[in-house]
Amino acid sequence: MSKRIWSYSALTQYLRCPLQFYFQRILDIPPAFTPATLAFGSSVHEALAVYHSALQRDIAIDDGEIRAAFLESWDRRKQREKITFTEATTEKSLLAKGIALLDAYLKEPPPQDIVGVEMTLMTPVHNSNGEALPAPMKTVIDLLTRDPGQLLVWDFKTSSRAYSEMETELSLQATIYSNSVWQIYKELPAFEFVVLLKTKSPKIQRVPTTRAPDDFGRLGDLIQVVDRAVKADMYYPIESCLNCSTCAYRKPCRSWISDPCVPKQETSRRISSTDIPFEEDQACNDTA
Ligand code: SF4
Repeated sequence: MSKRIWSYSALTQYLRCPLQFYFQRILDIPPAFTPATLAFGSSVHEALAVYHSALQRDIAIDDGEIRAAFLESWDRRKQREKITFTEATTEKSLLAKGIALLDAYLKEPPPQDIVGVEMTLMTPVHNSNGEALPAPMKTVIDLLTRDPGQLLVWDFKTSSRAYSEMETELSLQATIYSNSVWQIYKELPAFEFVVLLKTKSPKIQRVPTTRAPDDFGRLGDLIQVVDRAVKADMYYPIESCLNCSTCAYRKPCRSWISDPCVPKQETSRRISSTDIPFEEDQACNDTA
């Protein structure tokens, strides 16, 4: 069996910029920095997981403990990573925003009938012919609950803008996570993005969607093609403001040449993409 393991973040990173995927997941070059919005989203997630885990175990927890979990997570990241801020953001303003977002979420009715929090699932993906792909899919579900009659996958985002219905309908993440739950529980779940909106007055937006088995086959077809491209060492830059402005691999990217497909200073580190997995899920939970 192939050692390769796919994840949502690995797949979308390849689709967004195959060269960035190559630097991070094949050459294993550590990112030069972590954008503050990414670290921020992860710390909010950690605080939400503390809250939901307490609810699941029926343990009393107050808002102060959840805020403390957010701040502790941020401090841990600050010690490990080089966090960079945009001109419009400071650490102080971001932390205040994080507390305000958590407070807004805590005013919502708490989730009921929690099945799991931060659940790691390793599941097969099938193509549209029903054939299982050799590489499994690793997903980490923020929160799974049982609504009356149906499982519900919750995925939390922090964002400065509201999600549109179309981007939810087209979301690969919703398809991947719904497929993973379907594979394990043998029932089609509902899926909901819970967006913590970083607007002046923080708001919570819920955007529900569903997926059907046809969507899972189409996902399998897509992964099959990307997998072929990776096996063939197809890595190339996709330069755009959206991609490159926050990319932590701009330096090796400037040194990239197409043949051999490695940055000049990294030639001694070249390894075959078929030798290693790239499952590490570093999903960007924060959108600008
Ligand atoms: S700088 Fe842009 S093109 Fe280069 S690796 Fe990063 S995202 Fe890709």
